[in-house]
Amino acid sequence: MVATAPIVGDAVTLATGDARPIAAVYPDGAYTCPWCGAAVLPTDTAWATRQCLNPACLAYPAWSADAVRAELDRRETQRQEEEARRARVAWSLEQAEQRRQQEADQWAAYAEQARKRGACLLCLRRSPWWGDRPKFVRHRSPDYHDTHR
Ligand SMILES: [Zn+2]
Ligand SMILES: [Zn+2]
Repeated sequence: MVATAPIVGDAVTLATGDARPIAAVYPDGAYTCPWCGAAVLPTDTAWATRQCLNPACLAYPAWSADAVRAELDRRETQRQEEEARRARVAWSLEQAEQRRQQEADQWAAYAEQARKRGACLLCLRRSPWWGDRPKFVRHRSPDYHDTHR
């Protein structure tokens, strides 16, 4: 039990023995909990013991070592799941972008082919060209689509 005012570098120790140093002490002696960021005031009972009065914080005096370990495990699992989720999202965005690029390239190639063959771009566009079944149609009259929809 430490009854003196905390200084920067004092450890806030969990029931498991895991410790983090205090990074900030205010002129009135209050410090910022290195585990949750809450201010611990000199009037708080946790102040003298270098703990934390935030019940959600692992440095809260009532936590048992087992409970802290379980909570740390839970947070680590959650962090890993979040990381995996992010990786999946990034992967599918990349896939979508690749697909979009492939389609754009494919369309550009077919459109170029159509121009060379004097084929109609509108008919090509309406054909299942993305499924590799482009339709190259040459209309007898250039205003074909004005009269046929
Ligand atoms: Zn805290
Ligand atoms: Zn056409």
